Amino acid sequence: MGGESKGPAVIDANSGFGPDNLPYCVFELGGEASIGVRLGDRVISLRALVENGQLPGECGAGNLNPLMAAGKRRWDEVRATLQGMIESEDSVTETASHSIAEITLLLPFDVADYVDFYSSEQHAINLGRMFRPDAEPLLPNWKHLPVGYHGRAGTLVLSGTEIRRPAGQRKEADGSIGFGPSQRLDIELELGYVLGGDSSMGTPVPIGSASDHLFGFFLVNDWSARDIQAWEYVPLGPFLGKSFATSISPWVVPTPALEPFRMNQPVQEPTPLPYLQDDGTWGLDIDFEIGLQSRTMEVPDIVSRTNFKDMYWSPVQQIAHMTINGASVRTGDVCASGTISGSKPGTFGSMIELSWNGEEPIHLSDGSTRTFLEDGDTAILRGLASNGTAMVGFGDVSGVIVP
Ligand code: CA
Repeated sequence: MGGESKGPAVIDANSGFGPDNLPYCVFELGGEASIGVRLGDRVISLRALVENGQLPGECGAGNLNPLMAAGKRRWDEVRATLQGMIESEDSVTETASHSIAEITLLLPFDVADYVDFYSSEQHAINLGRMFRPDAEPLLPNWKHLPVGYHGRAGTLVLSGTEIRRPAGQRKEADGSIGFGPSQRLDIELELGYVLGGDSSMGTPVPIGSASDHLFGFFLVNDWSARDIQAWEYVPLGPFLGKSFATSISPWVVPTPALEPFRMNQPVQEPTPLPYLQDDGTWGLDIDFEIGLQSRTMEVPDIVSRTNFKDMYWSPVQQIAHMTINGASVRTGDVCASGTISGSKPGTFGSMIELSWNGEEPIHLSDGSTRTFLEDGDTAILRGLASNGTAMVGFGDVSGVIVP
């Protein structure tokens, strides 16, 4: 399942930024933070468009929260205005823009709450097989509800942020309780989304209107300390093995940009309860790859290639479930899909799966092997949706491990 790496990257992190995409970002230039929209290798400043009177209304500055709070009608208006300018080859997209080489990207929004789901059937099966080999790999609740937990919003960081190896308690092989830097530091490839618009506490968001809150999507690396996690998680679930850091990519791909890549989800059997039922067309055909690069390597080796289309629970089902008890959503809420793992070897979204719990090391092109991350290792996750007509890039999310 681990074995040889799969060679160099196929996904170009700079492709898929044409007019089909127009992802949002927040950038700093000359001491000022502005909202931008990426087109090719440039970022159009919404601040400049508003100031020039070319984009009616306000978009806010500093971060995307004011725009996200304004609601779907405003998101559609801004996107349509930009698309109109680009289609008419309006020179404003040049004069109000900057090369991405001259800007500094910032965390694009203030994170409100953070929820991490567990919606890949294959990932859940793989971990079940590893940790409960004598039992059914899927727990009895898994096909009835999108399993998730509340994570730590304050430690979501932008791609490129160094990740300090967490320390914590672990149960040693001899049964004693040890403490120290995690020895089983891992990645989790996930697709994240951020919500806009508040709902009312006490009133669930129906599945049919859940997409009204879906502002956009990005890549997530849910860093995981497996040794800390394994000791602490019973009975209340993930805690310090997850909360030290979660990295996200800087480009927020607008939900409408993913329309060409929607597809039927896997058939859900047993049929979920009515509040989780819709037409099942929120499957997404998005390709991903995971790169690992040691200190001595100049480019990453690709260790996994996978796709989102096998994910069992969709974003709208996750939102409907997350609010069915009356919990509200608010602007800036981030949800992550859960680790994206395909059914074949080499399509798994974490090192614990790729190395099968450390039993089958991953061979890197510098001659070394990995079961989990070492200090100096960089993990790079990339994503791209492409169907021959439209192409929408997610760029990448990377982070280097420091002691
Ligand atoms: Ca996760």
